[in-house]
Amino acid sequence: MATESFVLNVAEVIEETADARSVVFEVPSELQEKFAYTPGQFLTVAVPSERTGLVARCYSLSSSPHSGRHQITVKRTVDGYASNWICEQLKAGDTLRVLPPSGIFTPKDIDADFLLFGGGSGITPVISIARTALEKGTGKVVLFYANENESSVIFAGELASLVQEYPDRFTVVHWLVSLQGLPSETQLAHFASYFMSYTAFVCGPAPYMKAVTNALKELGFPRERRHQEKFVSLGGNPFGDVEEVLAAQAELKEADDAEDADDAPAFAGPVALEVELDGQSYAFDDWTGQQVLLEFLESKGVDAPFSCREGNCSSCACVVLEGDLAMKHNEVLDDEDLADGIRLTCQGLPLTETLKISYNG
Ligand SMILES: Cc1cc2nc3c(=O)[nH]c(=O)nc-3n(C[C@H](O)[C@H](O)[C@H](O)COP(=O)(O)OP(=O)(O)OC[C@H]3O[C@@H](n4cnc5c(N)ncnc54)[C@H](O)[C@@H]3O)c2cc1C
Repeated sequence: MATESFVLNVAEVIEETADARSVVFEVPSELQEKFAYTPGQFLTVAVPSERTGLVARCYSLSSSPHSGRHQITVKRTVDGYASNWICEQLKAGDTLRVLPPSGIFTPKDIDADFLLFGGGSGITPVISIARTALEKGTGKVVLFYANENESSVIFAGELASLVQEYPDRFTVVHWLVSLQGLPSETQLAHFASYFMSYTAFVCGPAPYMKAVTNALKELGFPRERRHQEKFVSLGGNPFGDVEEVLAAQAELKEADDAEDADDAPAFAGPVALEVELDGQSYAFDDWTGQQVLLEFLESKGVDAPFSCREGNCSSCACVVLEGDLAMKHNEVLDDEDLADGIRLTCQGLPLTETLKISYNG
């Protein structure tokens, strides 16, 4: 079963740097509600491929919700397929199939003070949070932005304008690796130590994220104020209309399930399950854990959200209100998310006789 996708017109493709393009979508009025988003969320796009039909990739929205825009920003990955296709082939007037916004890399309180760490294309969700916090919130925003060199700084002009507009609330520190080398954990910790009461959001290449996260942990930055987004490529196809891909996925999944079967502890009996989704409540009493929770809900005709089906993105995340859910695989939720009761339904197996979950955040 595929999640509902929509064909959107590309209104504009903007050359941000030699290696990065922003893509602005036209979202018709009847889809505005479906495509409503909070800063930090991402879209999943279907990039056409002669080899596999399509390649599904997630791209964070770099626009802010109140602007009315739906803009993603894509940076070329060396030898990457989708990012290079978008940067080279896509033009205004084309169409792309897109899944509605999802993701949990989003501030709960837009009035908080924010300590943002962006590296390279990791600026994308971060600038959306910065813009929204500055324009709709009341707190201070500090951005530590690492790039290879000056010409690779995406949104340099816009950040400068925002600093001018909000001189007493917005501070940007540019870190150029070509001049200063990679920022070390000690340097990052020293910087962050001035903002211990702020809420941190971190997005960038893996080594940078690791250094920032270690620095924040070392400082004793509390988990509930540390958020990170990992940029990985989806292996699966949430668009669901390419037979070959689906067959290959099913084979892989069978192999994975067999491998994972011993790892994920599960409650074997039927579970008394309650689900809140989009203002509706569902109750079932025949989930035995033979299928993961997402698949069970789909088998019952529930239009539950998902994207990667691999535990790599957070589109299918729910909050456990009662009972608990084990996950076969989790690449995206951190300890803080887990402590908040967030679980990935695409990987979810029952742990308890009763389970109550909500998709409403
Ligand atoms: C939540 C989230 C948000 C993200 N946000 C952003 C963002 O804002 N900006 C950004 O730049 N990136 C973002 N990413 C990363 C992005 O999704 C991709 O991982 C990135 O663009 C690299 O994808 P790629 O296809 O170019 O490279 P790769 O995934 O490295 O491409 C190589 C893969 O493509 C396959 N391939 C090669 N040729 C073909 C072909 N012809 N047909 C089919 N398959 C082929 C190969 O087999 C290989 O598996 C985000 C990721 C996540 C999870």
